[in-house]
Amino acid sequence: FASATDDAMSLARAKLEDVFGYKGFRPLQGDIIDTILRGGDCLALMPTGGGKSLCYQIPSLVRPGTGIVVSPLIALMQDQVDALRDLGVKAAFLNSTQDRSTQDQIERQFAADALDLLYVAPERLVQERTLALFERADIALFAIDEAHCVSQWGHDFRPEYRQLKILAQRFPSVPRIALTATADERTRQDIIAELSLENARSFIASFDRPNIRYTIAELGSGSARERLWQFIEAEHSSDAGIVYCLSRKSVEETAAWLCSKGRKALAYHAGLEAPVRAAAQAKFLTEEGLIIVATIAFGMGIDKPDVRFVAHLNLPKSIESYYQETGRAGRDGEAANAWMAYGLQDIVQLRQWIGQSEGPEAFKTVQRQKLDALVGLAEMPGCRRQALLAYFGEMRSEPCGNCDNCLSPPHTEDGTIIAQKALSAVYRTGQRFGVTYLADVLIGTADERVLRNGHDRLSVFGIGKDVPVSTWKGLFRQLTAQGYLTGDDEGMGSLVLTERARPLLRGEERFLMRVTRPKSKVAKKRGAS
Ligand code: ADP
Ligand code: ZN
Repeated sequence: FASATDDAMSLARAKLEDVFGYKGFRPLQGDIIDTILRGGDCLALMPTGGGKSLCYQIPSLVRPGTGIVVSPLIALMQDQVDALRDLGVKAAFLNSTQDRSTQDQIERQFAADALDLLYVAPERLVQERTLALFERADIALFAIDEAHCVSQWGHDFRPEYRQLKILAQRFPSVPRIALTATADERTRQDIIAELSLENARSFIASFDRPNIRYTIAELGSGSARERLWQFIEAEHSSDAGIVYCLSRKSVEETAAWLCSKGRKALAYHAGLEAPVRAAAQAKFLTEEGLIIVATIAFGMGIDKPDVRFVAHLNLPKSIESYYQETGRAGRDGEAANAWMAYGLQDIVQLRQWIGQSEGPEAFKTVQRQKLDALVGLAEMPGCRRQALLAYFGEMRSEPCGNCDNCLSPPHTEDGTIIAQKALSAVYRTGQRFGVTYLADVLIGTADERVLRNGHDRLSVFGIGKDVPVSTWKGLFRQLTAQGYLTGDDEGMGSLVLTERARPLLRGEERFLMRVTRPKSKVAKKRGAS
């Protein structure tokens, strides 16, 4: 029995070299492929560029039957399939952009077992017609790409993904692998529950991107565009990069402004005609030194290895978005910059959007918590990379030496005691309350809710009355950003302690807080990058 899988694994290595031309597996690829070849399910969390595709492509070549790949990125299917065909892999796709006769032809090829890989849009896959087709032939595996789309808390929720549960019911003996580059704990739990992956092995690659230097600056009264220009001129005078803005209008204006400064810059947002967007994307991929100024509409699935910088002129919506967007820099492993300048008005704006958005209150609450965590990351004085990785559940003992706070440490004070008070308040009130309530308890506001809960009798009631509310709120943001606290599962807005909080509560760890910077220091801060 063991020798059968050993044989399969040698075949997998042969395919890696002969078909794809690579010498060895990247971290986790070998273990994931081995698990699938033994018929097991997998959950693979790997950063963008980590090499997720091979994890299902190779087993599809080794196992009998066709590997079915579910992907929401219809626009990219043609390119993916063309690239595989160039390597001699028998690949095809099925989606709504094809006419009936093309679809019939591909279905016939599939039924005759003439395909190694078939890419299918999720809405297509869950149709009874497609499922029946699949039941008539051999399936090597199901790969569910961009699996975070099942999570309604995430930024890419796709209702059709919820129906993919049916795969486990209709094809219990076919291995399934879910893949994503979004890895917070909540999303992970959603994927496992929604795709019935309770028995899957989880593979979590390090999310560290050591070649990316993180810099986050609060603007004060300065102009974001001027700061951007100083940064680009100083560090990227002829490099390709992406500049993200919040609105279409500022995308257009910033692109025009960079052109007026003598750089080649193109605007990209969802309001532009499809051919205009396609042309901008094509130029970005082929021409050197082009800057794309874009809303978040740009970037999903773009594989340009030598993007040297990603700049944000506004705050993104969450740490997940920030990580995903900055992750488009430096995929070739060479040094790259993730640079962000934000103003306090960004926070106000994003909060308003969340408040006005449609959807249940619990959803908005989670969005607010995610925004708070990002603001916490922006405000914190310690190593950005440590915090970023801790947010995704990854501990790193040493500061990185390659972020603004490591390279030019901000003024800090010891916040251990105040952080302990904050965490104790969370604990003593039963981990059932949000920031505002917790601040009330700490400051000793005996309002009706506090009295009704009897929390005016707690030892933590009023222990923080010498500290302003804004400081407490900022502290809770920083504690969330650094993984000491997390949101509750139901989206009630409560803060809950994580494992990480224990050493801090026991006094085995110190917590540093940024000292609010006097106005005169704003100019000096530039030197950080
Ligand atoms: P992801 O889907 O995780 O973003 P991809 O599967 O697109 O990443 O892989 C990113 C890049 O790394 C691709 O150019 C791919 O060809 C390359 N790659 C993947 N696995 C290996 C490997 N074992 N050896 C060398 N290059 C690899
Ligand atoms: Zn650092």
